[in-house]
Amino acid sequence: MNKPKIVILGAGYGGMITCKRLEKLLKAGEADVTLINKHDYHYLTTQLHKVGAATAADRQIALSIPELIDSQKTHFLKAEVSSVDTNKQEIHLHGGDLITYDYLLIALGFEIETYGIPGIKENAFEIRSFKSSKAIYHQIIKQFNLYKEDQDPSRLTFVVAGGGFTGIEMVGELVDAMPKLCKEHDIPFEKVKIIAIEGAPSVIPFFPEPLIQYTTEFFQKHNIELITSKKILACTPEKISLEDGVDIPTRTVIWSCGVKGNTIVERFGLPLQKGKILVDPFLRVKNMKNVFSIGDCSCFMKNEKDSLPPTAQVALQQAPVCAKNIVATIRGEELKPFEYHHKGSVASLGTKAAVGLVGSLRLSGLFGAFMKQVIEARYLFNLGGIPLIIKQHFHVKREPLKVSAK
Ligand SMILES: Cc1cc2nc3c(=O)[nH]c(=O)nc-3n(C[C@H](O)[C@H](O)[C@H](O)COP(=O)(O)OP(=O)(O)OC[C@H]3O[C@@H](n4cnc5c(N)ncnc54)[C@H](O)[C@@H]3O)c2cc1C
Repeated sequence: MNKPKIVILGAGYGGMITCKRLEKLLKAGEADVTLINKHDYHYLTTQLHKVGAATAADRQIALSIPELIDSQKTHFLKAEVSSVDTNKQEIHLHGGDLITYDYLLIALGFEIETYGIPGIKENAFEIRSFKSSKAIYHQIIKQFNLYKEDQDPSRLTFVVAGGGFTGIEMVGELVDAMPKLCKEHDIPFEKVKIIAIEGAPSVIPFFPEPLIQYTTEFFQKHNIELITSKKILACTPEKISLEDGVDIPTRTVIWSCGVKGNTIVERFGLPLQKGKILVDPFLRVKNMKNVFSIGDCSCFMKNEKDSLPPTAQVALQQAPVCAKNIVATIRGEELKPFEYHHKGSVASLGTKAAVGLVGSLRLSGLFGAFMKQVIEARYLFNLGGIPLIIKQHFHVKREPLKVSAK
């Protein structure tokens, strides 16, 4: 009998951890596993803001997939998925190739939500992939060089739009990075302006007041101009426009105002809810027995009204259950329903501070930053054990990574 063929689409948090779990759960020769991703590296999405500010080596954030998987158990294919036909059990790849499957996991992640605001898609920078985040760093250096030619202050004005988690993490990273970058590129640091814009009355409005206060004071201490309660109306290559007629001349807007599911899934003909693949309690696509979906491109309803948020924490808790359920389906065993347990959230403000809430415990400052490191190290441990933690902290390659796909 032919071995069942499992195909995983996307090597982000959800896809990677499912793959590692399958390597452990499947008996030798029980199934063939293929992991498909558009790059040959797995990027740590929760640390992409560091790529934007160049505060981490490329290989600390983008890990080689062939080095993470067991090539005896998983076949890795670097390719971009263009569509899926669940009737024929086929995956279509850019370039025309076609892969068949018996069991499929769709874990294709997120896209940036621009809410249709004019000029954002064309002119703002996104913290979405390794490449899009690297473009932020290149933009900073480009503007430094152009400033030396024309002394236009808008070149040294960097706007971070969105005061949620990603936005404050990006600001924190710029705070850490700017003095060094200015020194390296001979730019007067005192002329650099970082502006944070948030439509709500405060940054991280979903957090308790003392943590909002801490973050606001952190911004003040580091001369970050914070604009709140103002909606962004448009963005051009030279300025960002806010309501009440406020225009801010800038060449660099970093957009971190929200995400949506990867819109590629709209082409798959699967049941969708708010643009994401609707899954049942076992993480299978609704009304399907052999197609699963997890992470940011999927919609798991926690009750009749609300779905789980698009976070790494959700994807990482879903992955082991999904792996078990794929194996149980192959073996004809009972499947396990997925249950989410929120463990808390911590947002970094550069390397020396963070704010977070774990249960009812509020974290801030250096202790918060330490906890953030623990969370990141824990992920590396799950992915590759102690050797991966040691490698990522001490033996990581320093040369820049060559990137091609978006
Ligand atoms: C800066 C930042 C900070 C964050 N911080 C936190 C945090 O502190 N805590 C938290 O819980 N969450 C955080 N998040 C959210 C978290 O990163 C996401 O929820 C998580 O990455 C989702 O995992 P995923 O596996 O669904 O998708 P991803 O990790 O996005 O992986 C999707 C993968 O699919 C690949 N892919 C996409 N399209 C194709 C295609 N057509 N063909 C082939 N491959 C494709 C991508 O290259 C990628 O490798 C943060 C996000 C950002 C951007």
